[in-house]
Amino acid sequence: MTRNFLWTRSTAFCERVTRLELHGLHFQHLNLCERRAWMYLHCINFAQWHRRVATGLARQGTHYTRDHSTVGLFGLAPDRLDWDAHLVFEHKGTGGAPTAVDRQVAFYAAMLSIATGYTWHGRVSILANRRWREVNLGATLLDNLWRDSERLEALLRLDKVPQAPRIGLCATCSLAPFCGYD
Ligand code: SF4
Repeated sequence: MTRNFLWTRSTAFCERVTRLELHGLHFQHLNLCERRAWMYLHCINFAQWHRRVATGLARQGTHYTRDHSTVGLFGLAPDRLDWDAHLVFEHKGTGGAPTAVDRQVAFYAAMLSIATGYTWHGRVSILANRRWREVNLGATLLDNLWRDSERLEALLRLDKVPQAPRIGLCATCSLAPFCGYD
């Protein structure tokens, strides 16, 4: 069941997203690693040459074809939309980094909610085990998206790459050679 979408920060959030040209991956990267988000914000992105990313793209190509209903959604790139149920679908190879993935999907749901006036939710499908989980766009998630957008703006203004500790993700991060964590 869908309901009308009301968020007092809708206009300000949209303004920031448009001005900074933010999209879903910015929100995902921010919740993985601030340094990675800074690199991405400054267009330093080598992911397409990374073995793990290439495998993920191949898996997606094999399991799902992108829904044509998403074509033309400027700044949004979800894998599939159910316009009647107000659901955003995102397909991931594995179930890793759920917080970051959910924030990416929540961003799509928030932007579609603002645009349509109905509350959208998300569903993340895990290709490796064929399971899925719901992403409910409630007050807490909206607050988190707002804070993320503030952090992204601050990172964009930062002219030096921020310090970042080595974390578990570094072992598979495409930027590890640049951070010295390879
Ligand atoms: S290698 Fe580690 S510290 Fe560097 S961007 Fe990737 S996750 Fe962040």
